[in-house]
Amino acid sequence: MTRPAKLRLSGQPRAAVPTRIHNVETFRAVLLKWYYANRRDLPWRRTKDPYKIWLSEIMLQQTRVAAVLERYERFLMRFPTVQKLAAAKEASVLAVWSGLGYYRRARNLHAAAKVVVKEHAGEFPRTSAALRSLPGIGRYTSAAIASIAFGEPVAVVDGNVERVLARITKQSVAGEQVWITAGRILSPEHPGDFNQAMMELGATVCLPGDPKCSECPVSGSCRTRGPQPSLVKAPRQNKREITCALARRDGSVLLVQRSANEQLMPGMWELPQVTARASEQQLFSVRHSITVTDYRVQVVDGNGAQGIWVRRKRLNKLPLTGLTKKILLRAGIIENG
Ligand code: SF4
Repeated sequence: MTRPAKLRLSGQPRAAVPTRIHNVETFRAVLLKWYYANRRDLPWRRTKDPYKIWLSEIMLQQTRVAAVLERYERFLMRFPTVQKLAAAKEASVLAVWSGLGYYRRARNLHAAAKVVVKEHAGEFPRTSAALRSLPGIGRYTSAAIASIAFGEPVAVVDGNVERVLARITKQSVAGEQVWITAGRILSPEHPGDFNQAMMELGATVCLPGDPKCSECPVSGSCRTRGPQPSLVKAPRQNKREITCALARRDGSVLLVQRSANEQLMPGMWELPQVTARASEQQLFSVRHSITVTDYRVQVVDGNGAQGIWVRRKRLNKLPLTGLTKKILLRAGIIENG
């Protein structure tokens, strides 16, 4: 991504921008300058290809950047174009997605690719409004793709942007009000970069627990300069303990397939869950988080459990749940990659 030769300030009159930010033009200029100098070098920032930007935005929903980095290039190697993704079998898409969790995203990605190919001749719609007609693309994702790939002046709001805005304005902004405020401070000339700059500030400086105000480029515009616990609600994590049975026989592993009607991870393959008994031989334990639940998982010797024997060489072609993949990796049954 190239840096603009000269950063121009918006001509929008200040009186029309009631944002509780003293000088919006200066705020935009300072934030963008900081972003161009400090942004992380991420693969999806080196492209304007809407397919690649869309993929990154879907992967980054609910998933850490480090985890996405491992998967993004691999997914693009397997499905380099929207046409290749549209032509793939769903099981293949889920298998490549495996480990990222929230599998509904992968299903919607696949469905949306088919719509782009069949109804838009393989070209992504160029406006946020049109993008929202695609499966799995909501207000945030459509605005991100349209602003970054096509330069549409439309603001994005994610958890980072919401927190940054709450702190800068010292207001507990929520709902539609956040979108309105984000839209009013958006740089009309560099909307994609500005949106990414706001998210980058939240991800690297204005951190949820402990903002680095002394390093913050916009501290001069900030009414808070410090954590404001009352403005930010941390999601509560539940804790659960479960037991999974790991059984091996002649180069095969015992698995079960989740029902197609399950709300979470329908149709995916996993190790059978069993009721913990003191008599079972414990192999090891792992920790795993799914949405708002942290699991402590005991893995026990599963001989005697019910399921289907799957040959080891077939495992990387099956859509395995992230937890199952983690256990099979730990047991040395599959390898990363
Ligand atoms: S000064 Fe501190 S609280 Fe304000 S935006 Fe910067 S990092 Fe966040």
